[in-house]
Formats: sequence, structure tokens, C-alpha cells
Amino acid sequence: MAVLVAGLGVSGVAAARVLLARGDDVALTDAREPVVLAELVAAGAHWLGAVSTPPEDVDLVVTSPGWRPDNPLLVAAAERGIEVIGEPELAWRLRIAAPGGQPAPWYAVTGTNGKTTTVTMLEQVLLAGGLRAVAAGNVGRPLVEVVTARDADGRPSFDAIAVELSSFQLHWSSSIAPAAACVLNVADDHVDWHGSFTAYRDAKARLLRLAPVAVADAGDLVAAALVAAHPHPVTVTLDEPATGQFGVRGSDLVDRAFSTDPAGDVLVGTGELQVSGPHNLVNAMAAAALARVAGVDADGVRRGLTAFTGGAHRNVLVGRVGGVDFVDDSKATNPHAAGASLAAYPRVVWIAGGLLKGADVDPLVAAVAPRLAGVVLLGRDREELARSLARHAPSVPRTVVPSGDDGAMGADGTYGETVMAQVVAAAAALAGPGDTVLLAPAAASMDVFTDYAHRGRAFADAVRALG
Ligand code: ADP
Repeated sequence: MAVLVAGLGVSGVAAARVLLARGDDVALTDAREPVVLAELVAAGAHWLGAVSTPPEDVDLVVTSPGWRPDNPLLVAAAERGIEVIGEPELAWRLRIAAPGGQPAPWYAVTGTNGKTTTVTMLEQVLLAGGLRAVAAGNVGRPLVEVVTARDADGRPSFDAIAVELSSFQLHWSSSIAPAAACVLNVADDHVDWHGSFTAYRDAKARLLRLAPVAVADAGDLVAAALVAAHPHPVTVTLDEPATGQFGVRGSDLVDRAFSTDPAGDVLVGTGELQVSGPHNLVNAMAAAALARVAGVDADGVRRGLTAFTGGAHRNVLVGRVGGVDFVDDSKATNPHAAGASLAAYPRVVWIAGGLLKGADVDPLVAAVAPRLAGVVLLGRDREELARSLARHAPSVPRTVVPSGDDGAMGADGTYGETVMAQVVAAAAALAGPGDTVLLAPAAASMDVFTDYAHRGRAFADAVRALG
């Protein structure tokens, strides 16, 4: 097969390697040369540089999730009738074609927020259930690599794969049929890439079409409506569960979907979990639901969930100074995530702002206003947040740290650290004992920082400097 790999990020490079190992004819295109180009060319790949039309003889294009559907090369491929897929779809096809025995089922998660947390919890639970499991996909490790991994005896290396898929990846998927699929939630994000909220929601919904079991957060109206149309819906709720649900009874998480006991199986006490916040209970129950389909029993679910320690920059307590907790949730890169995060703390000095990516912050600000002890704003879209706060929380004190405007980063390698030091000092000045200073920006970070992890590290450093 002649394949053009378009975009050589982590998954593109992995796709190229696997295709070359199979003996496929592989061409590569990207605006920039990847660092591993020499290795790929030595293995037989043809480097095209940047091109806007596919070569004559190409049968298939494997595109990067970062490329928009209106990219001229992808449009030209479609016009010529050449199929365009993403790396997860390629992995799904190779998984069936690869030799060595029964391929591992996929237990797949998508959603606007909570994907990585849920998939990592799921990996823990599958492992606790005695399965050789791995988390792959958008969470980091490319699926093509995982599905083709073989032990020394030639057998597939994994029994079960916990798969995270983004809406971008799903847009370019058509035949993926997970053993169970979860759409956690669907909120306003990435609408600029997909063109409309409906297109974004429909991309997420693709995951459910070919799955025998569909899981969603009952508290998310859009996701719940998607699974309600499915023949085997399972929902998770923060309330007492009905039949067919996972939910909370007293301080326990309970399964009334797969249990043979009509009262349900108690899975775990919420106090036993190492993560906090209602959103993490939702994530834990969604992971449990998928793991139950994989055959993990209640005890395995409990051991897996209690072993999970949380992800970096996701509601991590980084310091306590003068009775004030400082929490890093830099991964809250959209209003929906920030809303879940703020709901976990009663009185918050909120650090917000950055690149809003066209999202509407007004509903979030209106909802969280009663919890706010103060606000510190940063980043390019800070004025939009300030206007919303003036409408919904006029009496809440706020400090604005001008930052992130075009050209502001300049050549100064410590720009982000300098901004964050001012932000944290301003937040500390607004906070009283018992308050939580919460970095949950509701926005992307690239106007001031390299990425959300850099933003989180700068926050933790600034908090340490305070102490
Ligand atoms: P994703 O992989 O979808 O970006 P993560 O698990 O990395 O999701 O979590 C990102 C952020 O989203 C967290 O830091 C938290 O603020 C928020 N979040 C996590 N789980 C949920 C959920 N179930 N609902 C809403 N927000 C959530």
C-alpha cells in the first residue's frame, strides 16, 4: 500500500515506523523536518517536505490530529477520492491485520474534559483485575505501537487497551468498534477546529456507534442524550443510582448497572480515593463501568481506583501558606473544566485567563460567582473575563496582571515565570485563611507559557517562593 503520512508529531512518526516495518510504501510530509527524519528515510520513507497535493500513486493519507480538515492537502486528497484517516483508525485496521492471535479489545473514552484522568484510572483498574493493560491514544502512547506490540513468543503484548480519543482523532475514524465506549461530557471547546458545536458533538458521538455498551455522565445533558439513543446505555450519577447506573450512596460508589445484586455492588468509599472533587467521582465511576465490561470484579475496581494518585497539573495541592491552600489545575484549559474544578472548593481565589479559543465564559462566571473570594486575571483574553466578572460578581475584588499580548513574550525566556510571580503574589494578597487559591484558567496557556505544564510549574515555583 502507498501511504502518505501527513504531520509528523508523536503519532505520525509512530504510524510511519509501523507502516515501514510492514513493508508499505511510505511518503512523509510536514512543514518542518522531524528530528527523526534520517531514521525514517533510512528505513525507506520518501520525504516530500511541505506539499499541498498528494503524490499520484497514494492510496491512503494518515493525518495528524493537529491538522484541520480544511488543510489544502487533505481537501485535495478528498477531491481525488483518496481516503484520509487518523492514526487511531490505522491502528484499528492494523490490529485486525496483525499476526499473533486474538487482538486486545479497546475500552475507549472521549469527552471535553476528564479523558486522561478516566483512561489512566481505567488502566489501573484493568491492571488490578489481572489484565495486561495499557493506556494509549491521545493520552500519550500511540495506538499503532500498542496494537502491534508483541512478546518474545510473538503473542500480542496486551489483553486490554484503555484508549483516549480526542474529537480530532474521531473526526478521522470510521470503523473503530470498542468493546465499550464512554462520552464523558460535551461542552464548548475546539469549536474553531470543527466549525460548529454540532460537528464537535457528532465527532464525539462517532465513538458510540459501533460499541455494544455506551457510558456517559448523566449530569451532562449532551452526553446523556447521546447514550440514551444507544441500545445499552450506562450512566454515572453523583446521586443515588437507579438500575442501569453507577452512583453515590452515602459515601460509597455503587454499581447498579452490572451487579447481579439488585441493590448494587459497593465498589469503593469516596474517602479511599486519592483524588478529590465531584468530577473525579464521575471519572472513577466511568472507568469502573468500562472495566466491568472488561470483566473486572468489584474488588479489582476498588484496588485499581484506590491506587490511582491523580495526574500532574490536575487539581494538585502544591503548597499551603498562611492557612491558604494553593491548587494547580493548569489542565483546566476551557470553561467547562474550570467549572468542575471550582465546584470542588467552597471559597476560592481564582486565577483565570489566557486564550479562550472563542469559548463563552459568561455561564461559568455566573455559576461560580458565589464561591469567589477574589480573582486574579492574566493573559490575552483577560478583559473578556473582567467584563463578565463586572456583570456577575461586581463586588468580588480582582487584580489584573497585563500579560500575553502579541509580542509580549519576546526573547525573554522567563516571561511566564515573571508573570506568574505577580499573579501568585496578587492571589495571596486576596486570600484569607481557609481559602483556596486555584489556578484553573479556563483558557489555553500559549500566550504566556509553552504549554499548560509550564504554566503549572511556574505556579508551583511561585508558591514555593512565597513560602
Ligand atoms: P482531558 O484529557 O479530557 O483534557 P483531564 O483528565 O486531563 O481531561 O482533565 C482536564 C481538566 O478537566 C482537569 O484538570 C479538571 O479541571 C477537569 N475535569 C476532569 N474531569 C472532569 C469531568 N469529569 N468533568 C468536567 N471537568 C473535568
